[in-house]
Amino acid sequence: MITIKSKSEIELMKESCRLTGLLYKELEKHIKPGISTYELDKIAESFMREHGASPAQKGYNPGIKGVPPFPCSICTSINDEVIHGIPSKRAILKEGDILSIDTVIYKNGFNGDAARTFIVGKAKSNEDERLLEITRKAFFEGIKYAVKGNRIGDISHAIGQFVEKNGYSVVREFQGHGIGRQMHEDPGIPNYGKPGKGPRIEPGMTLAIEPMVIMGKPNILELDDGWTIITEDGTSAAHYENTILITEKEPEILTLL
Ligand code: MG
Repeated sequence: MITIKSKSEIELMKESCRLTGLLYKELEKHIKPGISTYELDKIAESFMREHGASPAQKGYNPGIKGVPPFPCSICTSINDEVIHGIPSKRAILKEGDILSIDTVIYKNGFNGDAARTFIVGKAKSNEDERLLEITRKAFFEGIKYAVKGNRIGDISHAIGQFVEKNGYSVVREFQGHGIGRQMHEDPGIPNYGKPGKGPRIEPGMTLAIEPMVIMGKPNILELDDGWTIITEDGTSAAHYENTILITEKEPEILTLL
C-alpha cells in the first residue's frame, strides 16, 4: 500500500531523515585507512542513540527462510560488494577502497533512509571516482521525474538510461521503495523501467530512491552470510540513496543537509 503522509507525519519524517544526513557527516570524519567497518558501525549506533533514535536495520528480519536478522546498524559494502555488507572487525579499510554505506534511522515512529559511497583515502583510479560520480548523478537524473502526475516508471527509466549511457550497469534484483512508518513501503522503485508505467506520483509520498551501479556486468551473487550481495564479475559497485518528499512542485530531498 502506498501511504500519503500528513503534514505532521512529514515533520516527523524530516527529523529521522535529517539525522540520517547528519550521520554521514559524522561517519565521513572516520573513514580512513586502518579503521574497521565494525568500528564505523559502533560510531553510527552511538550517534543514533545519542539523538534519541535507533537503527532500523539492526535485527531487521526480512522473513526469508534461511536469512538471519541483520546484526548491525549500518550496511558496509566494500569494492565488489554491492549492498547489504555486514560490518566486521576483520574488514579493515585500505587506501583506495570503495566503501558503500546504507542505513535507516528510526525516530518517533518514522524512518529516514540514505546511502553514500566513499573512497577511502586516495582513489586507485579516475574510473573509481567516475563510478561514484555517475551513481550520484543517476539519483539526480531520477528525481527530475519525481513530480506530481508522473509515474514511478519515469524515475526508473531515467536512472537506468543514464547509467547505461555512461557504460555501467544497474542492479535489477534490488530497488528503491516507499518509506515512512515502515522501512519498506510501496511502491517499489526499480533502477530501470519504462516511462509512463507504474503508480502515479502524488504529493505526500515519501520515497527512497537508490541507484545501485556496477562498473561491469549487472549480474550479482549472494554470499553465504545470507546478506552480502557481490558483483559476479568482480568489478566494483557504488550506491547512492536519499529519501525524498513529493510536493506540489519540486521534490524535497530530506536526507541531504
Ligand atoms: Mg537504504
